[in-house]
Amino acid sequence: SFDIAPIISRLRINAVNDAFSIGGHSGSAAGARVKDIISPVDGQKIASVRMAGVADYEQAVEAARAAFPVWRTMPAPKRGEIVRQIGEALRKYKHDLGRLVSYEMGKSLQEGYGEVQEMIDICDFALGQSRQLYGLHMHSERPQHRMFEQYHPLGVVGIISAFNFPVAVWSWNAMLAWVCGDVCLWKPSEKTPLTAIACQHIVHEVFAANNVPDGVSCLVIGDREVGELMANDPRVPLVSATGSTRMGKAVAAAVAARLGRSLLELGGNNAIIITPDADLDMALIGAVFGAVGTAGQRCTTTRRLIIHESIYQNFKDRLVKAYGQVRIGNPLDEQFHMGPLIDQDAVRIYLDAIDKCKAEGGNFVVAGGVLTGKGYESGCYVKPAIAEVRNNMTIVQHETFAPILYLIRYKELDEAIAMQNDVPQGLSSAIMTNNLREAEQFLSYAGSDCGIANVNIGTSGAEIGGAFGGEKETGGGRESGSDAWKAYMRRQTNTVNYSTSLPLAQGIRFDL
Ligand code: NAD
Repeated sequence: SFDIAPIISRLRINAVNDAFSIGGHSGSAAGARVKDIISPVDGQKIASVRMAGVADYEQAVEAARAAFPVWRTMPAPKRGEIVRQIGEALRKYKHDLGRLVSYEMGKSLQEGYGEVQEMIDICDFALGQSRQLYGLHMHSERPQHRMFEQYHPLGVVGIISAFNFPVAVWSWNAMLAWVCGDVCLWKPSEKTPLTAIACQHIVHEVFAANNVPDGVSCLVIGDREVGELMANDPRVPLVSATGSTRMGKAVAAAVAARLGRSLLELGGNNAIIITPDADLDMALIGAVFGAVGTAGQRCTTTRRLIIHESIYQNFKDRLVKAYGQVRIGNPLDEQFHMGPLIDQDAVRIYLDAIDKCKAEGGNFVVAGGVLTGKGYESGCYVKPAIAEVRNNMTIVQHETFAPILYLIRYKELDEAIAMQNDVPQGLSSAIMTNNLREAEQFLSYAGSDCGIANVNIGTSGAEIGGAFGGEKETGGGRESGSDAWKAYMRRQTNTVNYSTSLPLAQGIRFDL
């Protein structure tokens, strides 16, 4: 069995004392509920955490508020330099943190390291961004007037994160928010709090060395109640929330009721269209990795394949054969392609989806099922499944966070694109084709309606340089690259009159 103890110790996780954390100071929530964190890898308890309550939340939000006036005064490139140092610290801890991500969440070791690498990359990106918080300069219609816009920090940014990317998504938000001059209050998923505690310690090490006030980074371990406190709190001008559409609707309503801002990264229902002009070898790799990688627990997981009728049978046969070669087991052992689901609740949801799909007439060409026996003691390991379905089946319209892949056939590309779009979600999409006309149609205004549309790449995985997010029930938010930083700042339009008179706009006269 895997010995996590030395890693826990090197990452300085003292979970029982870390119900919430302001800078590096742990607050132990007296009398709070204690939750055991069980690894889906082997069913062993990793540690216990205390769940913060209202008083703990209050302390953290007030600490964040107190830190804001200090942090916003520091020049942005100086804040960028501190974020650069966080990237260095993450390089130092990459091995340990990557292993803990893998053990706590259940994704493969390579993906655990990949997640930490993504955090390092966003630190580099944010460093450059810290010198590029650009506003525009406009020509005024009035003589001797100067008009321009500036971006100022917002204040406390609340970050609610999901279990499946327990640390990367936080870093996309926090690193940009910090260079923008905001302070961060993070509520990680209650399923994966240990990696969050580790990150808080890593950040604190850097902040302390740079005399950054406690409160620029605050962490509150808790379940949805803590997220609800944040969503309803007018002291938190921006709530960035990643998770299910159900959660996003609740957060959006609460934040909107107080006219705050929300940035939502919610569920996907991602499809790959495979046309007769596709390179089927590439399509196969893209489809299998997209569907079974992270055991189907990525927001960008490939959930639907929309395949042209002329290649359908051939591609289906190859897919079924490829599924037969997928090795399922301990994600820390690199011989396995696919690890466990996050917990037994997720297994129940997976089994339930299979039943519902069958009840609606879905035809399973690769049967799923739960794995038992040696190596599968946690009860969280399942087999990836493939079903032939119709796009309008209720279960197909729904995101099941598990490795169930749906096959749908099409005749005309217009029909394929219409089906790809005909789901409530709008995160990621792809077309496999070597035909320029098909590819361009897919990317056009009449093509995919998703936030991400790829050609000859699967739906899954994204680079930090682009803006990440999706449309419709995916929530509309954009994070990470491009100009996503603007979400963390407020825009101010400024007009300065350096003339000796006061002309009014639109030529309006007001003579005294
Ligand atoms: P979840 O919605 O159960 O929980 C996500 C977070 O929201 C947790 O921290 C949880 O405590 C909190 N939360 C739940 N209900 C809340 C409420 N009413 N108010 C405030 N906070 C609340 O999601 P999960 O199971 O952890 O993650 C899987 C989901 O996340 C999938 O739907 C997946 O597609 C989505 N996801 C989306 C992206 C993206 O960028 N679009 C990235 C990762 C995951």
